[in-house]
Amino acid sequence: MTDAVAAIRRRQGLAEELFARLAAKTRVGPGIRRPSYSAEENFAHELCAEFAGRIGLEVTRDAAANTYMTLHGRDRSAPPILMGSHLDSVDQGGNYDGAAGVVAGLTVLAGLKDAGMAPARDLTAMAVRAEESAWFQVSYVGSRSALGALPADALDRARRIDTGRTLAEHIAECGGDPDRLREGPAHLDPKRLRAFLELHIEQGPTLQAKGLPIAIGAGIPGNFRHPRIVVEGAYGHVGYSREFRRDAVLAASSLVARLDALWAQTLAAGHNMTMTVGRFFTESAHHALTKVSGHVELSLDMRSTDPARVKALEGAFESIVREIATERGVEIDLGARTRAEAGVMDPAITLALREGATALGIDRMDLPSPAGHDAAAFAAAGVPTAMIFVRNDKGSHNPDERMEIADFMDGTSVLGWWLARNAA
Ligand SMILES: [Zn+2]
Repeated sequence: MTDAVAAIRRRQGLAEELFARLAAKTRVGPGIRRPSYSAEENFAHELCAEFAGRIGLEVTRDAAANTYMTLHGRDRSAPPILMGSHLDSVDQGGNYDGAAGVVAGLTVLAGLKDAGMAPARDLTAMAVRAEESAWFQVSYVGSRSALGALPADALDRARRIDTGRTLAEHIAECGGDPDRLREGPAHLDPKRLRAFLELHIEQGPTLQAKGLPIAIGAGIPGNFRHPRIVVEGAYGHVGYSREFRRDAVLAASSLVARLDALWAQTLAAGHNMTMTVGRFFTESAHHALTKVSGHVELSLDMRSTDPARVKALEGAFESIVREIATERGVEIDLGARTRAEAGVMDPAITLALREGATALGIDRMDLPSPAGHDAAAFAAAGVPTAMIFVRNDKGSHNPDERMEIADFMDGTSVLGWWLARNAA
């Protein structure tokens, strides 16, 4: 295993060259621009395929135009191991969000090949389409298409936000086949995959703050969301006494404060969650310094990596809403609720990745992901899934995103260590 990891480390130059060429062609002003199913995303897929060819991997594509770069195993019918992430970016994003996972897969396969490894099963670096999906507002298009889990109507219903062209048109234009996606079967059978591993830059500041190069993923949060909650009270004179008030601002503030207290209690009890009220406002046409406010709107996102916790939070949220409506004499209309399933990481692979880091002398911590990833689509489909996060200063989804190549190679080495152990 140490020979394999040493060989992977010797391929750092390949990773650096691939990152540099990706950035050179897709940088627009200070940031990176690789929209889903665009010419820039196509370029990124072709560039990775070119590198895969150089390494001697087989390159194939599926009907969603995802790219698979495979080191053949001795038994081609054995369930393969996939490593990968997405190559698209948000507008004015950074070069590493997504791409790091694809480059890591290629670097591992190059190193294993150099080390003369003949794996028992196929090992594939997967470049996934349309994870950010900035134009289409549908999550995990590439990974869910590959797994046959994209909702049937999404291909024609999802339209590019500015031009109105459909997702199906874009997929076809990028070499995919929307008809084959509609008819199936899916390109990947989740029951026949040994594992999916995704290396990704951290999107928050934790590793930077802790001085650690990598983290082992402790789960991808599921959430429930209310895009528009309306608290309806009654407008009144500023001099209204407390007992007669139906004050929407006090009711909405009290709701937020109670949810914040719930958050603190949940963390104190040893569970993970986050809670965000991203929108909160009175009606600008009616509000005034001298009025009790009768109408407040807010949004809510509550998330946890533990599916049971998400359910418990939903219940707690609903009873807080009922209590406040009674206490404050207001009506609280929750509007629509959306849900996303949590991506539960495979305990055995997660444990083994921790062991790998220890064996290689790489400091690490466990970290739940703050955001969604393609790995969540694989985990939801029942594929044993794990993630490795790489330290990244200045957050992601912005041009200042910063990952050090030494940290990337640490994460890639742990990934390679696990592959060498499980693919021989
Ligand atoms: Zn990403």
